[in-house]
Amino acid sequence: MSLSTVLGYAAKAVGQPLEPFTYEPSKLGEHDVRVSITHCGVCYTDIHGIDDYYAITIYPFVPGHEIVGYVSAVGSAAPALKEGDRVGIGWQGRSCMQCEWCLQGEEHLCRDIVRSGTWVPYGGFSTSVVVDSRFAYPIPEAMPSEVAAVLLCAGITVYSPLLKYAAQPSLKIGIIGVGGLGHLAIQFARALGYEVTAISSSPEKKEQALAFGADHFIVLEDQASLRQVEFGFDLLLCTAHGKINWEPLLEILKKNGRLVLLGFPSVALNPTDLVAHQLSIIGSFIGNRVAMREMLSFAQAHGIAPWIELMPMSQVNHAIQRVKENKARYRIVLFNDTVGADT
Ligand SMILES: [Zn+2]
Ligand SMILES: [Zn+2]
Repeated sequence: MSLSTVLGYAAKAVGQPLEPFTYEPSKLGEHDVRVSITHCGVCYTDIHGIDDYYAITIYPFVPGHEIVGYVSAVGSAAPALKEGDRVGIGWQGRSCMQCEWCLQGEEHLCRDIVRSGTWVPYGGFSTSVVVDSRFAYPIPEAMPSEVAAVLLCAGITVYSPLLKYAAQPSLKIGIIGVGGLGHLAIQFARALGYEVTAISSSPEKKEQALAFGADHFIVLEDQASLRQVEFGFDLLLCTAHGKINWEPLLEILKKNGRLVLLGFPSVALNPTDLVAHQLSIIGSFIGNRVAMREMLSFAQAHGIAPWIELMPMSQVNHAIQRVKENKARYRIVLFNDTVGADT
């Protein structure tokens, strides 16, 4: 393998296990940096990508978008970074910088978002990646790389809506799902001063949810407990995916309450409460660059960190299987054990 070749793990077709895949690195544009990858988290979005859930996947597909590594090459117009800098990259690796939303500083809503993903053309389950330097974030010095990796997608995904939709500290917030996103959402919500209730279908997660900072814990299927908190929440953050029984959840929102979807659950519901209680269902997608930088320093200042299982990247299929089976506690980060990783 030549020094410039990239070794990644790719799905060759829909739903296939990943297999080693070598390719030439992308050409470095003037704003770009090449980052030699040390760590990459495993996010459910990677699995959705492999399965072409979003109908945008191009195969061979190298997933991975919770990346930390070291800058190994710098474009001519990327003066903010230099070789050797430790940086992190989340789901977004670039944007058009000229559409209506980019010009408003909401570049995560870029009109060209499909081509803005870090995994275009190939993502972070690999030895290196090329991204726009403006989407490569310096990591606080004391923050471990595996911690930063998870914050770059899971962290920003929960932090951004907590700031945007819950601006008063006294609000009552319910976090649905205590997994990769949820266990971080509890920590951020607590640090932001909200009263936090964790709502999970796994009763065995109660102790850990309270340890992450939840004030209360409710089992999702426990109708009696849900009835006790009727009209109890200003905001529900749904981090769960799959099928969800929405009606009891709408009943625990206050009038004018908000349900924010962070994952991609199936949504089919009776609109009666939605309309009569003036509820809002809102989608929320990662966050902009300002929020990303704020989130990293907020997490560092408040000691917010994911629970991590570290695994070698060569075991990526095993890692994906654990995430699919809801066994990861709470996030898996792959470290790069690839011999001959490029420079
Ligand atoms: Zn993600
Ligand atoms: Zn744009």
